[in-house]
Amino acid sequence: MSSIAFIGLGNMGAPMANNLIKAGHQLAVFDLVPGAVNSLADAGARAATSAADAVRGAEVVVTMLPASKHVEALYLGQDLLGAIDPSALVIECSTIAPDSARKVATAAQQRGLAMIDAPVSGGTAGAAAGTLTFIVGGEADNLARAMPVLQAMGKNIFHAGPAGAGQVAKICNNMLLGILMAGTSEALALGVANGLDPKVLSDIIAKSSGRNWATELYNPWPGVMENTPASKGYAGGFGVDLMLKDLGLAAEAALSSRSSIPLGELARNLYSLHSGDGSGKLDFSSIVNLYTHKTQ
Ligand code: NAD
Repeated sequence: MSSIAFIGLGNMGAPMANNLIKAGHQLAVFDLVPGAVNSLADAGARAATSAADAVRGAEVVVTMLPASKHVEALYLGQDLLGAIDPSALVIECSTIAPDSARKVATAAQQRGLAMIDAPVSGGTAGAAAGTLTFIVGGEADNLARAMPVLQAMGKNIFHAGPAGAGQVAKICNNMLLGILMAGTSEALALGVANGLDPKVLSDIIAKSSGRNWATELYNPWPGVMENTPASKGYAGGFGVDLMLKDLGLAAEAALSSRSSIPLGELARNLYSLHSGDGSGKLDFSSIVNLYTHKTQ
């Protein structure tokens, strides 16, 4: 069992840290929100007073932060890398720009630290159940060292390639997710506007050629599926602003590689309009509200 510093205890980080505790690891945790630290302390973690305090003596450091700027500010701006034991392994799980991941990984390497980017897929339910998919960029030896820690939080672990590759794969996945959630919302709203029951239509699509992750596990229509953010006022889950960030990362990656992403760009504009309505903190499946002003 390892001593692990876990920094960033939000919708994803808190349940992931909980699973590491359940697997028998010793955790020191830190978040800017004291309540988040206290909840994990109640579950058996050491409540650290700062990120630097959390990494003291840690063999493994895991971070789960909102975006590139938070990751760069912590590791480089606050020089957290300088506070980590050189023999430790750093596992960065946030979804960030591939260039940011490479920048931090290079700085870590210069200090002799092993680091991988390991963004996740599977949502808050996957984080709670310990069934996340990890999409890893970095050296194979470092991934091998990370395996016991990743396996306590996830089920499928992929090596996408060198540093930053995990982020590229994650961005491609989330662009598709954003498109599929908007498309599913559009289809359901069309059906309801034409007299269908949203549950009946969802059941039909879930067993037909339009089925996807949203219709199977994360239906955007309130009341159609239990325990989804849609059935809890779109609280928790994966925020609209986080989806907007990921679609922005996809747009940057498309510009730098001269790729065309017309549907990804359209989805980014839809989530941007939706966020502008004050919905940025709601779960991203609330995009259905853009379509339903006439039908609900
Ligand atoms: P969140 O906003 O709920 O949590 C982020 C946490 O980081 C917050 O508690 C915040 O206080 C903390 N934080 C920010 N800066 C910090 C600092 N300097 N030190 C300590 N703590 C700090 O976000 P989330 O939903 O948990 O997502 C985290 C990451 O995972 C994002 O990059 C997101 O894109 C990605 N992700 C989220 C989901 C999801 O379903 N929510 C799924 C896959 C990937």
